[in-house]
Amino acid sequence: MERLFNRIGTVPPSRDGGAAYRAELFARFPFTPEAQRWLAGEIALEIHDVHATGGGGYWHPDRRRVELFTGQYEAAIHEYAHAWWHDRRLENDAAVRLMVAVVHLSEETDPVFAPTAALAHHYVYGIREQADPNSPTGYWRGMLADGNDWEMYAGLASGCMADIRLLPPYVRPFYADLFLLLPPEAPAPLAGAPHR
Ligand SMILES: [Zn+2]
Repeated sequence: MERLFNRIGTVPPSRDGGAAYRAELFARFPFTPEAQRWLAGEIALEIHDVHATGGGGYWHPDRRRVELFTGQYEAAIHEYAHAWWHDRRLENDAAVRLMVAVVHLSEETDPVFAPTAALAHHYVYGIREQADPNSPTGYWRGMLADGNDWEMYAGLASGCMADIRLLPPYVRPFYADLFLLLPPEAPAPLAGAPHR
């Protein structure tokens, strides 16, 4: 049976609690050893269809469980970031400090960080073109208005696909225990992946 695990795309359904998929995720993306141990040991993983890549998922804090609809890495990074942040966001004012850093990122002008700065701008100022009948402004007001640090955190984690070189130095410390900072010459983790 071992050879079934050798090729990408042949990871079996998560009857193993997602262990094979998780090992592949950790091999492809630079989760720190500490984060790998903690996520594997503390957080249950459920995957509905590991062969599909459409994305989607949930973090269930009450059940200490990440639920993924598919094997899409972006969703896995996002939901695992939620799980990681959940237990750490209230230490040393981390939630508020993150939001301050995201405001700073929304004003960032260094083109190296343009993609994550654009995300931060949405989180802070919302999207006027995105109608929201439940919003007092009529459009999606973003996350700062709701004090939603946890979606900012997970959104930037999946936005950079675990490559925190794409985050400026004042945002990286929030992710430093979750993701390794790759050396400048290292290829993007996503570059070798069969899908996002
Ligand atoms: Zn989320």
